[in-house]
Amino acid sequence: MTVYRDTGVVLRTYRLGEADRIIVLMTAQHGKVRAVAKGVRKTKSRFGGRLEPTSHVALLLYEGRQLDVINQAESLDYLRAVREDLDRLTRAMALLEVVEQVAQEREPDPRLYQMLVGALRTLAAQPAPLLVPAFYWKVLANDGLRPELDGCVSCGSPEPLVAFDVGEGGVLCRTCRRGVALSPGALDLLRRILGGDLVGALAEPASAATHEVEVLAVRAMEHHLERRLRAMSLLEG
Ligand SMILES: [Zn+2]
Repeated sequence: MTVYRDTGVVLRTYRLGEADRIIVLMTAQHGKVRAVAKGVRKTKSRFGGRLEPTSHVALLLYEGRQLDVINQAESLDYLRAVREDLDRLTRAMALLEVVEQVAQEREPDPRLYQMLVGALRTLAAQPAPLLVPAFYWKVLANDGLRPELDGCVSCGSPEPLVAFDVGEGGVLCRTCRRGVALSPGALDLLRRILGGDLVGALAEPASAATHEVEVLAVRAMEHHLERRLRAMSLLEG
């Protein structure tokens, strides 16, 4: 039987039989992995609470024909601040939901894994209004869908850029405008998120512009995935 080690973040779990669970993980080296944790639902499970959504763990796995089996799981991060705060937990779920949709099984995407770990740590340290939307934009860029922000996607005009269309994948000028209206403040935030000032953008307090960027990020992600995002509707509701 082949044994391998990896690190991963638990994206989701579901019941299997009487005492087991299937654990869906985003791993560093094997992409998305589905694995069985045997006996995890028993009170005295050797896994304790280490295989809950948002858990970041070092794993020892047996490779199976259909599902791998988790042999060991050790905590790498104690993201207590995320799990004990409903608002942060909801935001974390919004990250996990998108990663589960975007990641491919057994297709390594170390950058996506690193982005997820980084976002969860930031969320635990200090939840920023733009954390989830910035993550969505970064994930889209990682998938080759970086939006055009420098000039109108239709005619190339550099300004004034007043709208954003998720189908076109970028900003539009006054003449070509389609999609939703985009304020200069929101355009500035988008440029900072995708242009190397992520830290500065995450330091921004909540405002009309951050809300605009959030709504747009959800629309762009839902357009890409061709489905609605469950966790974000909980956040807004
Ligand atoms: Zn134009």
